[in-house]
Order: sequence, then C-alpha cells, then structure tokens
Amino acid sequence: MLKENSMEILRKFRDRKLIQAVSKSIEKIAKKLDYVRIMHVCGTHEHTITFFGLRSLLPDNVELIAGPGCPVCIVPAREVDEAIEIVFSGIRVYTYGDMYRVPGTKMSLADARSEGADVKVVYGFNDAIRLHMKDRKKSVFFAVGFETTAPTLAAFISRRLIPDDLMILPSFRLTVPIMKYILSSFDINIDGIICPGHVSTIVGASAWSFIPRISGIPAVVAGFEPLDVMLAVFSILKMILEGKPRLVNEYSRAVSWRGNITAKRYVREVFYRADGEWRGIGRVKRSRLLLRKRFKHLDARSRLSVSVDTGPEFKPGCRCADIILGKAKPTDCPLFMRACTPDRPQGPCMVSSEGTCSIWAKYGGYERIQWHYD
Ligand code: SF4
Repeated sequence: MLKENSMEILRKFRDRKLIQAVSKSIEKIAKKLDYVRIMHVCGTHEHTITFFGLRSLLPDNVELIAGPGCPVCIVPAREVDEAIEIVFSGIRVYTYGDMYRVPGTKMSLADARSEGADVKVVYGFNDAIRLHMKDRKKSVFFAVGFETTAPTLAAFISRRLIPDDLMILPSFRLTVPIMKYILSSFDINIDGIICPGHVSTIVGASAWSFIPRISGIPAVVAGFEPLDVMLAVFSILKMILEGKPRLVNEYSRAVSWRGNITAKRYVREVFYRADGEWRGIGRVKRSRLLLRKRFKHLDARSRLSVSVDTGPEFKPGCRCADIILGKAKPTDCPLFMRACTPDRPQGPCMVSSEGTCSIWAKYGGYERIQWHYD
C-alpha cells in the first residue's frame, strides 16, 4: 500500500502504472470503508476526472462529485442582465468567451450581439485594454471569475493603468466563503474535499484549514494531472480510515501555505468583500468582490445607474441549481443531451467549458468514461 510520503516521489503525473498502483491502493482502503462522497470545487478538476475517465478507476463506494467550481455558471442571471442593459445603451462590453453565451433572464450577450449590440470577446483584461486603447470607445469590462482572476484586474486598477472611459462591471465570486457556506448550510453528506489548485496558488493552502477544523472532514489541495487527483482521493480515504482528518497540500509544487501575498494585497487594496448572490445557491456572506470607494469612478454600476428587474435564473426542467451544489449529476437532468446540448445549451452548466454538463457532454455524455489514457 502507498505511504503518504510516497507522494513526493510520484511525480510522473500521467504514468499509467503509477496511476493504476494508486487505484489499487484506493481499492484496498475503500474495502474497509462505507460509501464515501468526495467533492471538488473546480471545473479543471472535473475536466481531468472526466477526460481521463478517473471515475472508472475508483471502486463503486467512492464517488467524486463536482461542486460549484465553474465561475461562469454561478454568475446570477441578474448580473448578465446588467451587462445586457449596458450594451443596449450603446456602450461596448468586453467579456470572456464563456460568459458571452451564458443566458441572463431573457437573453445572453451573444444574443445581444446578434441584435447589433457592441460586444467584444476577449481572452483577458490585457486584451480588453489593448482593444480599448485602439478604438477609444466608451466601454465596460464584465469581470467574472474566482480568486484567480481578480488579482490581474486589481493590479491594473491599483497602478492607475485604466482610462476613465473603460469601466468595470465586477461579478467576481470567492470560493472559500462558498465552501464554508455549503459545508455549514446543506445536507450534502460530503466526506472529503479536493480543494482547487489554481485558487490555492493565490489564497494559499492555509485558506482551507477550516475544513477539517470546523467540518471534521479531510481536505486535500490537488493539482490537475490524473495522478494528482488520484493521490488526493487516496489521501482523503486514508485520513477517513485513520479517523484523522487534516488538510494536506498535495500540490506543493505550485501552492504555498500562505499563497501569493502580492496578489492578495492588490485584491485587498482595490476590492472589498460583500454578500453576493450565487446562481442556484442564493446569498452567501462576504463572497463577492466590489470596488472600493476610491475606485468608484471605474464602477459601471454606480456611474451608469444600472438597474434591472429580477427574473427566472433557469429554464423550466434545467437542474443546474442541483448540479452546481453537487446534489445531482448531468445525467440526472431530463434535458441532458436531449433538449440541452453544447450546440443548444439550456443552462449555464452546459455553456461554460468549466460547466459540469458541458464537460460530460464533450467526453461522451455519460458518467463513468472508461480509462483511455496511455
Ligand atoms: S443538461 Fe442543460 S438543462 Fe440540464 S442541468 Fe445541465 S445545463 Fe441545465
């Protein structure tokens, strides 16, 4: 059986033999355990798990569940409507490709563009600045993402590198508060958490120490190769078996205990934390980033007095709310791969490349894709 300190040696992240060895070790431990449900909260983890068919390498009593790990899927429809109202008032809106197709209550930014609105898809804020300096048109950057995306924008704002005619519509959300909320508010029966590797490079492994402390379940910060995920599962099962839940940083090659101090400083300087709505979840305390008063001149909401009505978050029959919370799988949705496909998405989880429905659809549309990597 693998020893926990073997982790440092096993760095051939896609080595079939190593992965199968971990799989066997998982199987041995799982035989001594009841049903185990492990949640991850990162679209990239779901991509690794599904693309490499890792669920097919796990015993039947070990379930990997996708939680709210898609930063686009959880943006409330109301905030998409705000961007749509802005673009229909004649102001250009810059947004990411994933956000472009996510439906608001009536339409998406893609629909707005097909009606003649000036929407530009960008890869990042640098791209938006470059286009803006070229065209010098009054514009708004629709800023979405988790802890990983906010620091770049915060650095631009802090260094006063943004002209006044490029405003920001901030729709950032934070994964640490949502995990606290989920673990304390919902009866989801989770036995362990795989913490998001990208987010952890910013917030640091220490940000997740509340999980074993408050919820009494193990947590592992993991990278994005198949071996990373399998080692995280192994580590969680081992801690459950030993009855010693702790926080383990499996992704120490990229994640430090304290995270990226400079990035965190920029974010603190530019944004403050406010309570925020999450699509399919509701209001979560201190989970949203808004611009501080001294940067209000860049804030599209206050400068443009944006106001929209509330409306339905999901189309009838769409189970995105349950999927975002890890209460259901895409195959539980009656619309999956029928009325709802990547070409005709009905909900945000099918639109974004980080959405669970979209990932499952891309790699076959079923749950236990067989191991195919060699
Ligand atoms: S398959 Fe489509 S309709 Fe069903 S939950 Fe996923 S996104 Fe929503």
